[in-house]
Amino acid sequence: MDYLQGLNAQQREAVLHRDGPLMIVAGAGSGKTKVLTTRIAHLMATGVDAFNILALTFTNKAAKEMKERIEKVLQNSEARNLYIGTFHSVFARILRGEAHRIGYPNDFTIYDTDDTKSVIKTVVNELNLDDKHYKPSAVYNRISGAKNALVGPAEYANDYAIQQEDMRTNRPAMAQIYDAYVKRCYKNGAMDFDDLLLKFYELLKNVPESLSKYQRKFKYILVDEYQDTNPAQYEVIKLLGAMHENVCVVGDDAQSIYSFRGATIENILQFQKDYEDAKVVKLEQNYRSSKSILDVANEVIKNNKGQIPKNLWTEKGEGEKIKLVRLNTDNDEGKFVADTIQEQKLRNHYNNRDFAILYRTNAQSRAFEESLRRMGIPYTMFGGLSFYARKEIKDYVAYLRVIVNPRDEEALKRIINYPVRGIGKTTIDKTVLAANEQNISMWQVLERAREFGFKAGTLEAIENFVTMIKSFASMLQGKNAYDVAVHVGKQTNFVKELFNDKSTEGVQRYENVQELLNSIKEWTESPDTEEGEVTDKGLGAYLQQITLLTDADEKDPNADTVKLMSIHAAKGLEFGCVFAAGLEEMLFPNALAINSREELEEERRLFYVVITRAKERLWISYANTRYRFGNLVQNEPSRFLEELPEQYVDRSFAGGGMRNQGMGNRSAYDRMNGGGWGGGQSANQAEKRYGPPPSKKASTPASSTPSYITPKPQNKPVEHVPSADFV
Ligand code: ATP
Ligand code: MG
Repeated sequence: MDYLQGLNAQQREAVLHRDGPLMIVAGAGSGKTKVLTTRIAHLMATGVDAFNILALTFTNKAAKEMKERIEKVLQNSEARNLYIGTFHSVFARILRGEAHRIGYPNDFTIYDTDDTKSVIKTVVNELNLDDKHYKPSAVYNRISGAKNALVGPAEYANDYAIQQEDMRTNRPAMAQIYDAYVKRCYKNGAMDFDDLLLKFYELLKNVPESLSKYQRKFKYILVDEYQDTNPAQYEVIKLLGAMHENVCVVGDDAQSIYSFRGATIENILQFQKDYEDAKVVKLEQNYRSSKSILDVANEVIKNNKGQIPKNLWTEKGEGEKIKLVRLNTDNDEGKFVADTIQEQKLRNHYNNRDFAILYRTNAQSRAFEESLRRMGIPYTMFGGLSFYARKEIKDYVAYLRVIVNPRDEEALKRIINYPVRGIGKTTIDKTVLAANEQNISMWQVLERAREFGFKAGTLEAIENFVTMIKSFASMLQGKNAYDVAVHVGKQTNFVKELFNDKSTEGVQRYENVQELLNSIKEWTESPDTEEGEVTDKGLGAYLQQITLLTDADEKDPNADTVKLMSIHAAKGLEFGCVFAAGLEEMLFPNALAINSREELEEERRLFYVVITRAKERLWISYANTRYRFGNLVQNEPSRFLEELPEQYVDRSFAGGGMRNQGMGNRSAYDRMNGGGWGGGQSANQAEKRYGPPPSKKASTPASSTPSYITPKPQNKPVEHVPSADFV
């Protein structure tokens, strides 16, 4: 049992604890995830079947890494039989066998955020409401919040406080929209992301056979990042674990950063009430960060009230002080970071992969991307558009979705007249209207088109379309996903149309489609067990898994590149060197989160999370001015900077002695012109390394190149003629 070597006493205790509820609450970098992984390995090594273990992680990527680590420890490939992944992916997989029990087709479609917003827009318009007032994204947030709190449309409509809130925000029709939206998804045989939790919960609650089947199956349940579970997830874990009570949760209340999505740290406190005999293990040794970094993090989080007290310590040395850096503009911040990375690589022999640039909002990435590109430093950005969100890919996939589930109205609308086949907008509107009137699906109207008085030409086009889709659907039995997909691309002329477009973008689109088909092929041929039975390589199984992929799952975490991502996305990760960027009032803490103590404390937890991602070196930067939403704005330094303990922080790049000087009291003129940069010796150093301080520049801050003027790099020229394999 080599894997037990090197664990400290508390970690070992948690790994060896066999039956009964277990909770590990511990600070960042104390080995929670390591314990969880080792625990799974240990269970498997001592006779528990992988099929009986359910492990819920924060990302699919984390799940994959855990599997790999377990395989390495056990030196076999049993780990692939684990039910391990995000709540969404694991529950979606189970629902594919069970959805029919709650009135959905097993081949239900999963609506991504785009689909969801589109359905909401449709519903809002059909209710004769204004989608500018009832913005799909705002409505979506509200509905999502309700679902994750397990509040259904009926309860929503009847809850006095909720209704008051909607009146206050001038959205009195929310309940009506919610109800119509739910019905529409149901009619379309579709679930949105939140439904994957909600419907799974309903399955367990309403279908006793399913409940007992999965209770018996999952003898051991493990949950990472438990502090960020929402009430729906909490209830599901409770239901699933009720038979064996072998539920192990690990988390850190100080890192709870998803309350805006309905997560609540109450879950941690509630665990001990639910399971009175729960064993509670505290891990206090941090193995990740230098003493300076850890102490700074500990000091910062102390400013929050009501944390579970923890005493995190490390055997590591003090290491480098944390560097606080003040820049004039966001572009300067980008340049500073790229310069520093270059310098650190030379001076301290770091690789690109040792660096992470972490920010509060994804919009901040632009300045870093530009400067990294200019310096030729390779980087990977997370949080961008997923491959599967590109238009041509969504169009292609829409065909596949319609074949698997013709009730899927969103997909149907996407492809019914693409490529053009004479079924125009008027016809589509008429079809949708008829479907609503008759309370049937849009597909059913098309199937029975003769009954609805379409013009002869239109009728013919519709009938040809229906015949074509049916002929594709008949391939589903017996053909794998790849064969069906290639056939569809050829028969519809879809691929040919892209192939004939020889513009740079057209060629790119065609290549993307080739890439899609290649990935379907790869997926079709990969080994993959499901319950040790016949593997499902059908189109339905394929579609489900791609909908749940995020851009993070598509990127290689081990590539030697600098990583750029939001702090939310960096949860659980660690890097040698971290840049925490944009520590400015209104940005971090965010303008949307300064109205209550609760919100502010969550922002502070985010700050704690970003600090604790660093192992060796940490830079915290802020800019005097930056472009936000197209405007140049000036911000004060973040209030969190005043909470950094002097002892471990080098403020020489921030104009020195910020706390004494009181940044907040500088004159507007000073702030605009970067006055206060000068700090004697250190300022000179700064000048040498990073150019003259802003106040010495001939230009005013406003002249730093705004993003929209900066020339964007051109798409790389097409150097080869793509193959016509799939045309
Ligand atoms: P977070 O709260 O950020 O998710 P965590 O508590 O999950 O952190 P891990 O990511 O499991 O912490 O561990 C942090 C680092 O410490 C990892 O690099 C891990 O390999 C290392 N580590 C954990 N325990 C030990 C140990 N006993 N000996 C050596 N290294 C350890
Ligand atoms: Mg972790």
